[in-house]
Amino acid sequence: MTDRIELSTANEFIARHIGPRADDEKAMLATLGFDSLEALSASVIPESIKGTSVLGLSAGQSEADALADIKAIAGKNQLFKTFIGQGYYNTHTPAPILRNLLENPAWYTAYTPYQPEISQGRLESLLNFQTLISDLTGLPIANASLLDEATAAAEAMTFCKRLSKNKGSHKFFASAHCHPQTLDVLRTRAEPLGIEVVVADESQLTDVSEFFGALLQYPASNGDLFDYRELVERFHAANALVAVAADLLALTLLTPPGEFGADVAIGSAQRFGVPLGFGGPHAAYFSTKDAYKRDMPGRLVGVSIDRFGKTALRLAMQTREQHIRREKATSNICTAQVLLANIASMYAVYHGPRGLTRIANRVHHLTAILAQGLSQLGLDVEQAFFFDSITLNTGAKTADLHAKARAQQINLREVDAQRLGLSLDETTQQADVETLWTLFAAEGQALPDFAALAASVEARLPAELKRQSAILSHPVFNRYHSETELMRYLRRLADKDLALDRTMIPLGSCTMKLNAASEMIPVTWAEFGNLHPFAPAEQSAGYQQLTDELEAMLCAATGYDAISLQPNAGSQGEYAGLLAIRAYHQSRGDDRRDICLIPSSAHGTNPATANMAGMRVVVTACDARGNVDIEDLRAKAIEHREHLAALMITYPSTHGVFEEGIREICGIVHDNGGQVYIDGANMNAMVGLCAPGKFGGDVSHLNLHKTFCIPHGGGGPGVGPIGVKSHLAPFLPGHGKMERKEGAVCAAPFGSASILPITWMYIRMMGGEGLKRASQLAILNANYISRRLEEHYPVLYTGSSNLVAHECILDLRPLKETSGISVDDVAKRLIDFGFHAPTMSFPVAGTLMIEPTESESKEELDRFCDAMIKIREEIRAVESGALHKDDNPLKNAPHTAAELVGEWSHPYSREQAVYPVASLVEGKYWPPVGRVDNVFGDRNLICACPSIEDYA
Ligand SMILES: *Cc1c(COP(=O)(O)O)cnc(C)c1O
Repeated sequence: MTDRIELSTANEFIARHIGPRADDEKAMLATLGFDSLEALSASVIPESIKGTSVLGLSAGQSEADALADIKAIAGKNQLFKTFIGQGYYNTHTPAPILRNLLENPAWYTAYTPYQPEISQGRLESLLNFQTLISDLTGLPIANASLLDEATAAAEAMTFCKRLSKNKGSHKFFASAHCHPQTLDVLRTRAEPLGIEVVVADESQLTDVSEFFGALLQYPASNGDLFDYRELVERFHAANALVAVAADLLALTLLTPPGEFGADVAIGSAQRFGVPLGFGGPHAAYFSTKDAYKRDMPGRLVGVSIDRFGKTALRLAMQTREQHIRREKATSNICTAQVLLANIASMYAVYHGPRGLTRIANRVHHLTAILAQGLSQLGLDVEQAFFFDSITLNTGAKTADLHAKARAQQINLREVDAQRLGLSLDETTQQADVETLWTLFAAEGQALPDFAALAASVEARLPAELKRQSAILSHPVFNRYHSETELMRYLRRLADKDLALDRTMIPLGSCTMKLNAASEMIPVTWAEFGNLHPFAPAEQSAGYQQLTDELEAMLCAATGYDAISLQPNAGSQGEYAGLLAIRAYHQSRGDDRRDICLIPSSAHGTNPATANMAGMRVVVTACDARGNVDIEDLRAKAIEHREHLAALMITYPSTHGVFEEGIREICGIVHDNGGQVYIDGANMNAMVGLCAPGKFGGDVSHLNLHKTFCIPHGGGGPGVGPIGVKSHLAPFLPGHGKMERKEGAVCAAPFGSASILPITWMYIRMMGGEGLKRASQLAILNANYISRRLEEHYPVLYTGSSNLVAHECILDLRPLKETSGISVDDVAKRLIDFGFHAPTMSFPVAGTLMIEPTESESKEELDRFCDAMIKIREEIRAVESGALHKDDNPLKNAPHTAAELVGEWSHPYSREQAVYPVASLVEGKYWPPVGRVDNVFGDRNLICACPSIEDYA
């Protein structure tokens, strides 16, 4: 008989996602002395937690089948014409930005630009973003994005608290005109810090002396436009700082907050080309005065110079703020919204100042026509002045009007029982205005004449608030207005950078694995992209199914009982998790519990988060093998037993090992009344092998942008859902728009909802077996690298069987002693070989942490190991004196093309500099700048595009 032909669709995806082929797997296992993956896993996973995984997922599905299923789910979302506004607006993502940026792996698979020499493209785009924000808000310093408008407002609140001279005050004024979701998040964030948020109408304020700060919304959430000049002066006179949440499109026409005295401006950049996406991800912005720049949360791109004195960009100052300042850090933001900030910045680059102003004028004019027509129809329009939003006092007819609108597939904003709201946007047409008139007109009433009104209505912006200053005069916003020019600009920037589409990015703790195309495809479908987060629930049945199924999948993967998908980064998951612990203790009358134990090896976001949750951090020691020092932990747990709230511990540890004592550690904390927070950033070593919810964790966050395939986007977006055991489920974050009423941690109920399809697709295609295999291969790949490199560089920590988990730390400190070569030199030299460096000096200074992930093939691992070995030979040559101590290929790395064609004065050859291995001749990555001078940049801080004169 001939071979049987398999007739069911084959699931090829698992083998596509995983790099090594069957033969490679065998060879690698043999290198490690194992004959099967099961045997390797059995040696790596400690006895005490073996078998805790109960990954009960069905078999994986083929790419085509999974795409068909998710298409059907997407089809259950209904796309009504939406006039809800409230911080979220319809927008046209320009097609060249959609295709060449949002859907382009050169942009979306990049990592946060910590290695500036290989990140000049996205750094330039982010500098454009900062310039855009600074220009529009009239404040000189803007960061490179925050997570959403509401959390940016919360950051502004704590910023005011730190900087206000009204030191005795614990009261923060928040205008009743702020968006409701912003007020929700403010309240959540204020409570653990002992801040009282006073929500009121600012026009009723008589005494402002009791406040340390204030938040105003501009234009107001209901559409009103107020002149805040005098109010800001009153707050300033009382030593309070003022933050203004402002709409970027409106600012093209309105006096910017910086010109009426605001200390901070925050807001969303969503309507600059970023799809609604059911609430996210979108970039938020934060800008402030020069005097406060060193206190600003988030990341800041700054201008510096490279080794040759040429202009070069890099992250300034607070680059690694949480890692350096730990519990004294002012914010826990790590992953931000870089990809979305880049979209917004390119939207401004493409439209330019005139294009943006034209869009804003058009939206405003249409709103003025709409309002005038509604007045003619006898409706009570509450605003005399507005930009794009109005509120109608519809009294007893309100509910009927909503029902009538919905019957015509139209969503209006639900303000209250008596009033409703309308917001127009870039996509609004004449026909939409006429449809709205028809909706509000009484039976048989004559409709307003659009053409007549268009010719006669006046602008409804108050004269004293009309913007006088010019916007976006920098060349970058005036150059790329044809599609050809924009396409090439995007290509040119992408070509400067290294992303996963060119090389492995072996960053420990970051899990830079494949972001498969099939996972990415649904993200830009209109059915996921064009849904407003506050649309009536019945319109988002597709999202409801997607999130329900995803929650069940993540419960299966972690062993937890309930999941919240709301947190939009790992840091926000940590925060939501600690709040759940806090609320749990309080619900039992245990409100003295505020001590959080954190091992010294923890990621910087952990102590920063504990601080934000109002907890006191007690650091516990690690032993010489990198493990948590159990006796120290026990002693501290007992010492603080009356006040112990939680332990935050990363598993497998940030030192890259599965600690044997994890169950015992969890037991100690529980015995002393605390809850266990397991930081799940390293979940990629565990899925299908062991489950934090089953070996002692009460709550964990996952980084879907690490373990579950959401791309890093150059520094965001991310999703940081938390899983909890059932006793914490009542304390998961809620939302005004959800049944759960605990405080919200994000503006939207499902945070970064529109990228959840990526994780759904990944889990669906891998199935239980595939996910387990991915963890096993991640461990195999890490151990293979560790084994190949250990004779060249000592591996800092291993478990009891001399194995690592899914990452390994190479100790370069001894080499610094013998050769003067530092981790920096090695990281920069890797660029000459075409690699992105591993994680530098975290969690141990002077080391490199390598995490290959399961997606890298054996060829790529070997290419990397060969480069590392070659570099070790160069270091040996420095040690022996064969290479000059200071003028050598390591100290001078990376080498640029420009350097080669100049005079060559180094004692080593050009070939050795740029082609250290022969294969590079075939395809070489040329860094656009030499080594960047960080100190120079921080001393001469410039955070906007260099002026036109500097370009000349
Ligand atoms: C990445 C990471 C975090 C923070 O997650 P973000 O999504 O960047 O906020 C926290 N802990 C560990 C161990 C991490 O590796």
